[in-house]
Amino acid sequence: ADPATLNARISVCRACPRLVAWREEVATTGRRAAFAHEPYWGRPAPSLGPVDARIFVVGLAPAANGANRTGRMFTGDGSDWLWSAFYRAGLASSPTSRAAGDGQRLMGLRLGSAVRCAPPANKPTTVEKATCLPWITRELELLGQVRVVLALGGIAWDTALRVVRESGWAVPRPKPRFGHGVRAELTRPDGQTVVLLGSYHPSQRNTFTGRLTADMLDAVLSTAKELAGL
Ligand code: SF4
Repeated sequence: ADPATLNARISVCRACPRLVAWREEVATTGRRAAFAHEPYWGRPAPSLGPVDARIFVVGLAPAANGANRTGRMFTGDGSDWLWSAFYRAGLASSPTSRAAGDGQRLMGLRLGSAVRCAPPANKPTTVEKATCLPWITRELELLGQVRVVLALGGIAWDTALRVVRESGWAVPRPKPRFGHGVRAELTRPDGQTVVLLGSYHPSQRNTFTGRLTADMLDAVLSTAKELAGL
């Protein structure tokens, strides 16, 4: 399959009973009052961005009233943090994004996530993470131009390492530990080097507390661009 077909398949996946029940409950009877009259996506969030992207950004999972409502990752939860950083870095056409179909365009960067359906309390189980893994594994295989995998948070970092190991990439030992700005050199089976780069997740818990500042995110994106030759 090409990445567009893969996205279409992902968007109708029902492999995780608990997540299917939760995403549909939130989208029907569990809507947040402010969005009670809006349509909810209520399905897995597809990836976004060009298929010849050189940077692949891996997030954690959709938020129940965020991407589970809008159909686009990192939108709808009141924060344009990530989009404005992409925009400042010249990787997005607009500093804001509201929902799928809003005209936002990513440049040189593709955005995916470790888990595609909103989990209760934002916490996917180990089984759910493993069940969703083949989707992102297949996607990374299809994105042949990727030179940097940017993991947003520790779960995305661990997911990326599992994905590349299962795809036969060479990974340093001992297993590289996640940290903001940490990088690890990976090697595709064809010999191509790809850098895994870590960033704290731009969740409100991190941005409100100053654990992740705009300057820190800008610096990581600048490094990603440089490593990717953008
Ligand atoms: Fe399918 Fe992934 Fe959603 Fe599970 S989390 S139902 S594997 S798309």
